[in-house]
Amino acid sequence: MTNFKAMLLEKVDNDVIATIKELSLADLPDREVLVSVAYSSLNYKDGLAVTNSAPVVRKFPMVPGIDLVGMVEESASATYKAGDAVVLTGWEVGEAYWGGYAQKARLKADWLVPLPSGLTPKQAMQIGTAGFTAMMSVMALEEQGVTPDKGEVVVTGAAGGVGSVSVALLAKLGYTVVASTGRGDSLSDYLIALGASRIIGRFESSKRPLERELWAGAVDTVGNETLAAVLRQTARSGSVAACGLVGGGNLPTTVYPFILRGVNLLGIDSVMCPVERRIHAWQRLAELMSAEVFDLITEGTVTLEEISTLSEQILKGQVKGRVVVDLETTQETGKQ
Ligand code: NDP
Repeated sequence: MTNFKAMLLEKVDNDVIATIKELSLADLPDREVLVSVAYSSLNYKDGLAVTNSAPVVRKFPMVPGIDLVGMVEESASATYKAGDAVVLTGWEVGEAYWGGYAQKARLKADWLVPLPSGLTPKQAMQIGTAGFTAMMSVMALEEQGVTPDKGEVVVTGAAGGVGSVSVALLAKLGYTVVASTGRGDSLSDYLIALGASRIIGRFESSKRPLERELWAGAVDTVGNETLAAVLRQTARSGSVAACGLVGGGNLPTTVYPFILRGVNLLGIDSVMCPVERRIHAWQRLAELMSAEVFDLITEGTVTLEEISTLSEQILKGQVKGRVVVDLETTQETGKQ
């Protein structure tokens, strides 16, 4: 296959248009490793990029898609050879460099990690950037001494991609997980099946600087008033991994949780995470994710053509768990 399908974001006047185009290998940027992409996935940031709802994309035209898994076809790097299965998340791919919503991608070798043994390519994208970020968040809590015996750990935005995987990983590791969701009416059973011990609603704003100590730790995907509320309720010496901003980029807090309770606020950046830590996180994901969890968290597998509609939905908080994008299937070509 020399020609291949890709989603292309192009700037037209002040608008950004997403279309599915047929490209040739000559259209791809000149980088070390040519990858035949099997799967990508839909993350919140992809939703922002595809709908142009935030300035995620820095250059046009752009192939979006912040993660991918596939097979090396050609390599000018000593690290990878043709036939190797590789995974990519982050490194500003899909933002500043052409990404995973294409059947082919040319990438820097340093951006890749080997597909960990124990995971299929599809499972790697059932995890994707969201699941990788969940693992990084859990690792950050562990490193701060948040152990299962310390008390309940809360996950906000629990039914989303990062949230769902966080609930599953923490439960598997023996934590007592409380899932905070705006969709408790419809998704409580789902979150309990993932391992949550109980479900609570979304957090509310308050003028109080501190509240009753409830949480030994937290994974927060929401930011803003939600993160502030979680900090007010985090127990002495507890830790909060802040990884998301679906509720907004502000943090309307006081210093009291930090100076009166020694609460730790842990920043999570999956994009520029060093390679050694990536490999370690992927190995842990391969160990911790079960077949049952993969089934539960996967809302669906979609084609390139369906990404635009789902991008609107993920921004409205309507997507449950994870959506996989199958690059080997397109509406026109059918399965190849
Ligand atoms: P999803 O859309 O899959 O999940 C977000 C969840 O947050 C929703 O499912 C919903 O869960 C909840 N939610 C949505 N809107 C609101 C709101 N206004 N107030 C409160 N809760 C809300 O997104 P992802 O899981 O892919 O990403 C989550 C966040 O993490 C994003 O901000 C993303 O940019 C960030 N992220 C950061 C990374 C990093 O490196 N730091 C990497 C990956 C993601 P429910 O219905 O259960 O309430």
